Amino acid sequence: MGSTTAANGNLHMLFFPYMAQGHMLPMVDIAKLFAARGVYVSIVTTPANATLIRPTIHRSNFPITLHLLTFPSAAVGLPEGCENRSSLPSDSHRSSFYRGIAMLRQPFDDLLKQIRPDCVVTDMFMPWTYHVATDRGIPRLVFDGTGFLPRCADDALQRHRTLDNLPPDASSFTHPGLPHRIDMLLSQTHEHSKRPPGLAASFDAINSQRKEVDPKSYGVLVNSFYELEPKYVEYYRKVVGRKAWHIGPVSLCNQDVADKSLRGGDHESLDGDRCLKWLDEQKPGSVVYVCFGSATVFAGEQIREIAMGLEAAGHSFILVAGRSAKEEWFPEGFEERINGEGKGMLIRGWAQQLMILNHAAVGGFVTHCGWNSLLEGISAGLPMVTWPLFADQFYNEKLLVQVLEVGVAVGEKGDGEWGGGGWEEAEGEVMGSGEEADGRRRRARDLGEKARRAVEMDGSSYDNIGNLIRELLERKAKLNAA
Ligand code: UDP
Repeated sequence: MGSTTAANGNLHMLFFPYMAQGHMLPMVDIAKLFAARGVYVSIVTTPANATLIRPTIHRSNFPITLHLLTFPSAAVGLPEGCENRSSLPSDSHRSSFYRGIAMLRQPFDDLLKQIRPDCVVTDMFMPWTYHVATDRGIPRLVFDGTGFLPRCADDALQRHRTLDNLPPDASSFTHPGLPHRIDMLLSQTHEHSKRPPGLAASFDAINSQRKEVDPKSYGVLVNSFYELEPKYVEYYRKVVGRKAWHIGPVSLCNQDVADKSLRGGDHESLDGDRCLKWLDEQKPGSVVYVCFGSATVFAGEQIREIAMGLEAAGHSFILVAGRSAKEEWFPEGFEERINGEGKGMLIRGWAQQLMILNHAAVGGFVTHCGWNSLLEGISAGLPMVTWPLFADQFYNEKLLVQVLEVGVAVGEKGDGEWGGGGWEEAEGEVMGSGEEADGRRRRARDLGEKARRAVEMDGSSYDNIGNLIRELLERKAKLNAA
């Protein structure tokens, strides 16, 4: 019971994503998934972010309404139209960005008063939404964009006060009580990550509010699927003890090429046709795709090292270098050479990641291990080179390399030193032949199939969406009867 439950328009859910691609794109996918099950859906965002998601919403043909709140850019000293984490001029502007988001509190409350949804799903970076919703008697679900292993590891760290109890000269530790032995360097933890002083204060403030309100929220929506990390789903239920619904991989709701290529891009600068044409000319499984997500800002020497390594290695490649990459960072004549030889493609802006990962020509993914990229690589059935840089990415690497055995680590230590030395070797292992590489590819393909089954009718994630809808409908019926 519950798995195929549809809301038939009797339930209104409101989604308010944090304005960063890694949070906004999956939340829009989640909104589409609920809309597909008959839920009336509202999405709240700001005008500049609406431009990014409107094409996706229009294509979906579901009853989804966009509500726009004006972002107070000028009031917090940000340039006009700077309303997304990825469009901030630099990392030091993040505190202003958080302040701007917190200023949306009153307009958000006004909106809730006006449209009165049955439940809200809001991001962990906006803990104040819990109070606004609760004061209006509306249950709040949290979305934080990550999976079960990272949240269990984080919980274990806090619960056992592991870091407080280490000897002063310790540089590494083992997470206590987890289903697998997970060793980490101190330099890879949130607590030891290097942040500008102003940003550290904003982060700490948000974190302490989260600690207070997330456990009191109705539950958590998790972009994961049971078969990916069953022991961590169970651990979360039994040890952490919070309600969580695994409903992913949510990106799989983007089925055709147009859905995949429209997702989240700056639609005017898309170079998708050229990319698709080039991929069509490559042999199956021969291309390595290199991308570090939507938020990584590289130094010139890092891009240079990667570009040189890719050129030297034997495989065709797509390198996503980001908009800020400067011409002089690349080896001389790099782009003309790789274009001329047909050896690779350089993408300077937004890459159509879903379309690329799911193309038959792609055989490996060099990833920064953002949770979305991890799941998208898994869903595409690809082995990965893991190159985590910050936040939960170090945990995500453990899942890929140690638990699932579909990744090879480059050995990034998270200490601020560029640990790229081992990456060419890792790339060779993932793209190479032999028993180990074949085993990794087989395991990755199997996981890709499991991911697809999880979101099909009667799959574990499909069922869980039905379970949540049923629970929310029952809650509403009780309230109406009271
Ligand atoms: N993405 C994309 N094109 C890009 C960069 C990122 O489509 O050029 C998408 C990617 O598919 C993923 C999201 O943006 O869905 C990034 O999320 P992730 O958690 O991987 O990393 P983050 O950007 O949060 O570090």
